[in-house]
Amino acid sequence: MSSSSRTIDAPRVLAPYVRIGVQGETLYLGFGSLQQAVNDPTLWRPLVRLTAYFRAPRTRAEALTFLRDVCRVREPVAQALLLTLESGNCLVRAHAYDPADRYSRHALFYELSGAQAEQVQRRLAEAHVLLLGCGGIGNLLAATLATAGVGELTLVDGDHVELSNLTRQFLFTEADVGLPKAEVLARELRRRASGCSVRTIVGSAPDAESLRALPEADLILVSADSAGITGLVNAHCVDSGQVWLNACYVNDIAVWGPLVIPGETGCWDCQALTARPPMDDPELAELISSVNGRYQAPSNGPVNMLASSLAVMDVLRHLGGFGVPASRNRRMGVWTHDLALDTQSAERDPGCPTCASIRPVTQEPQGAR
Ligand SMILES: [Zn+2]
Repeated sequence: MSSSSRTIDAPRVLAPYVRIGVQGETLYLGFGSLQQAVNDPTLWRPLVRLTAYFRAPRTRAEALTFLRDVCRVREPVAQALLLTLESGNCLVRAHAYDPADRYSRHALFYELSGAQAEQVQRRLAEAHVLLLGCGGIGNLLAATLATAGVGELTLVDGDHVELSNLTRQFLFTEADVGLPKAEVLARELRRRASGCSVRTIVGSAPDAESLRALPEADLILVSADSAGITGLVNAHCVDSGQVWLNACYVNDIAVWGPLVIPGETGCWDCQALTARPPMDDPELAELISSVNGRYQAPSNGPVNMLASSLAVMDVLRHLGGFGVPASRNRRMGVWTHDLALDTQSAERDPGCPTCASIRPVTQEPQGAR
């Protein structure tokens, strides 16, 4: 809750996601990463009564009066109990939840994350995301963004649906084999999110010139596997001041990031993020290229889902302005077999050949209210 709304003491109501339970010697209020653990049993009854009191909209002053006059709690304890509810994001504005709204369950998630859902939803509706690559990761990125209320999506892909895609490119059907991926994906998105403006660009893997011809976006999402695309997109985005994020897999590792905000965060070239052929040994580099040239990605449904889930969460965080993207200044990976989290620093290098001279673009306040 913002300090301004607390100053005017607007009525607030108990968030529908709040539950209470006792486990062992501890009462838990809220559940999840923000759960409040209360070990003193003398506080349980007044805290539960206060929580129940907020089933109807109440001001802070009303709650303190209730604790003092009805629950017979001293002032410092009353303040602490109210703070327990507030610090767990348990109280929301009186009309923050409208079950009839199509985004109502997402709204609860944004409120739980400490943001005002209306504001997040408005930011998403005003956003344009350009997606390079409509394969396994792209399918899920696009579906999540469109159904979450992102206003505009541009889908770029030159490939056609193949039978071997269907293990992970879930918005395509057997009947779509042979059709352009971008067109089929657009058709499926329009069925699920008619309010999202979807356009398609069916073309081959973009080079520097064709990237410049693409429409400007609030965020470019890369889920294409064509060689060298990350470097090309990075140069294009740093040059044009567009935010971009890579989502991919490295065999069995689900990978996303870094979220590149030109002039503000590290870019793809600030740190050495991937292994490359040795430029100072042409003979060895040639031999390595001959091995790498026969690479065929072991693309797996669950690994695609994992990478796309974690990447799209960061996209929503950045565009909607709630929480902090996990891939800000970091390239993240989940090792799917042993579930280890891999973090590579992608901090900004003041001597980076690509972004050293770039200044921050206009910054909107992001994150928790
Ligand atoms: Zn850089």
